[in-house]
Amino acid sequence: GSLLAAEGLCKTYGRTTALDDVEFSVHPGEVVAVMGPSGSGKSTLLHCLAGIIPPDSGTVRYGPHSLTGLSDARRSALRRTDFGFVFQFGRLVPELTALENVALPLRLNGTKRKEAERRAHEWLERLEADTVRGRRPGEISGGQGQRIAVARALVTRPRVVFADEPTGALDSLNGERVLTLLTDAARDTNAAVVLVTHEARVAAYSDREVVVRDGRVKDMQAGLL
Ligand code: ADP
Ligand code: ADP
Repeated sequence: GSLLAAEGLCKTYGRTTALDDVEFSVHPGEVVAVMGPSGSGKSTLLHCLAGIIPPDSGTVRYGPHSLTGLSDARRSALRRTDFGFVFQFGRLVPELTALENVALPLRLNGTKRKEAERRAHEWLERLEADTVRGRRPGEISGGQGQRIAVARALVTRPRVVFADEPTGALDSLNGERVLTLLTDAARDTNAAVVLVTHEARVAAYSDREVVVRDGRVKDMQAGLL
């Protein structure tokens, strides 16, 4: 069955309807691209699915949990252990080295420093970013920064990875490398990926595409029937 599933999601900001009765689901190991033009509601959907913002109505189920029913503290804890995030501009901590950035989520989960750094090192190697492990975000390229951000998202072995325009700031060659490494690693670890993008060439890395338009979601496969 599905790992993460939303039903009847509604969200408004003042008079703006960001989500209008949205259904969405993703299976373990599945990469789903959430497409649509700017302002269509993609980021709002991602934030509701990840339990970062509460919907006005509707439910989000994650495995046996109702995300919408959990307390804030339980939801935050679940996010730290089970979800990984990649943003458009990496959002690495500028004061920390690449290795320390990747080790950070493990440290926050209580993993001892040595073990955290060992696993961070492994993921940096896997993401072809090990050579810059001692550098800070200001001293590396955009492509390296996004590979480090992907390593940081995956180091905790999340069950769901949320990626919001993860290659939006990269040229196509660097973007392709990041997407290949991200989707291969997710499929290897059986993580589900919610990949938000407005670019068809990014969505090409997914197993399935859904399109958001004016806060409503359309499943592309269903649309063809
Ligand atoms: P997308 O990610 O597809 O660009 P968003 O989910 O960011 O779309 O936005 C959907 C709609 O909700 C847009 O009209 C946007 O302006 C509005 N919106 C999003 N976040 C806020 C906010 N915090 N306050 C007010 N309006 C918002
Ligand atoms: P990548 O293909 O990994 O994104 P680039 O071709 O952009 O790398 O950069 C090549 C080299 O130049 C890298 O080793 C990187 O460390 C260095 N570099 C690129 N951008 C910057 C920057 N803004 N500041 C410091 N070094 C940079």
